[in-house]
Amino acid sequence: MNKVNIAQLMADFPLLQQMVALKEVSWFNPNTTSLQEGLPYVGLNKNNIQEASDRLTRFAPYLVKAFPETAKTNGIIESEVVEISAMKSQLEQQYKVEIKGKLLLKKDSHLPISGSIKARGGIYEVLTHAEKLAIKAGLLMVSDDYSKLFTDEFSSFFSQYSIAVGSTGNLGMSIGIMSAKLGFSVSVHMSADARQWKKEKLRSHGVNVVEYSEDYGVAVEQGRKEAENDPKCFFIDDENSQTLFLGYSVAGERLKQQFEEMHIVVDENNPLFVYLPCGVGGGPGGVAFGLKMAFGDNVHCVFAEPTHSPCMLLGILTGLQDGIAVQDIGIDNITAADGLAVGRASGFVGRAMERLLDGFYTISDQRMYDLLGLLNQVERIQLEPSALAGMLGPIVVASSDEYLERINMSNNKLANATHLVWATGGGMVPAVEMEKYLSKADS
Ligand SMILES: *Cc1c(COP(=O)(O)O)cnc(C)c1O
Repeated sequence: MNKVNIAQLMADFPLLQQMVALKEVSWFNPNTTSLQEGLPYVGLNKNNIQEASDRLTRFAPYLVKAFPETAKTNGIIESEVVEISAMKSQLEQQYKVEIKGKLLLKKDSHLPISGSIKARGGIYEVLTHAEKLAIKAGLLMVSDDYSKLFTDEFSSFFSQYSIAVGSTGNLGMSIGIMSAKLGFSVSVHMSADARQWKKEKLRSHGVNVVEYSEDYGVAVEQGRKEAENDPKCFFIDDENSQTLFLGYSVAGERLKQQFEEMHIVVDENNPLFVYLPCGVGGGPGGVAFGLKMAFGDNVHCVFAEPTHSPCMLLGILTGLQDGIAVQDIGIDNITAADGLAVGRASGFVGRAMERLLDGFYTISDQRMYDLLGLLNQVERIQLEPSALAGMLGPIVVASSDEYLERINMSNNKLANATHLVWATGGGMVPAVEMEKYLSKADS
């Protein structure tokens, strides 16, 4: 992996020079294809998403009992979509750009159980593992009422097994809380950037939190190593897991249904643009896959990364995928957007999704704080910094004439567009922490 000639790379991809200088950049992928052409590279299909959706339905009666806050959605972990028109006007004024169409926010920030997008993939992977163990032991059948998992019999069964994961915070929260609730012994290996309150919250749930002074890559490696020495330990691999990816992908069909209820049309003349904050890539990649399967070529997915951690852009732009890390070109991977503080992207997600993503852009930490303050001020919605990365997306797209022309986006179509910013976290940030975030905003 260290064979990469960095000087040559910088010459081949001039955009890298701006990235190294920590400038905000955007790149619209010239290799984007239709869904039909791109799908074979994903290696997964509609049936896989359906299986994931069915599994979540089987677990719903359990979740209602284990987490009563999920009762109002009958044990389905799903978030609201809201229109943020005051935010839209503010963005238009501040950036002096017209955003044609509607601006909506997908509030995964307020998903039950763990307050972030990780409540999709992380929880799904733990449930998948638990189901497999229980079925193998002859304790469970898929036709059973899964609320029986909320009993001492099952928690003592699961307590023989352990689960480990490496995390910048939110994945650890989802996996830690879910695993501990089922009865597993669970260790979360936390990178240096993980917030103290997240560690404390996990410990209060009985989770073993292991702290590192290094970044996410190191925390994952250590977690993986520890799990290798224990045959009863299952390591959740955020960098390569198809299961996590599928847990996220269920969001596509769910969003389609929400849009139907809201009378929002997505078709050739009513395009959908979705802006997804990207860390290692599993969350936004899985969601984008689900969206593509639900809306086909009428959805345009754009990933947002911090200027200090543009790992997916780096991997896909250069074609090196997980063969290069931002540190290799002198970018430090230190950002206030802790959920996105990842230096090396998932190779699995990059290779699977590169043809199905329209573009990428980077955003500075200060801009995330400013958008955080603005959203709070005009919409009274509070998010964590990572979750604001997507908020610049409508501005970036509206200012990219070349891209819009390439995808044949006429002004007529744009006038009917729906812009959906995926708010990925922040619902459980304690008030004192939120005050600190808000104090960093300039507005
Ligand atoms: C994890 C996370 C993301 C990105 O997900 P990845 O799977 O790491 O790409 C975005 N926002 C928040 C708040 C997160 O916690």
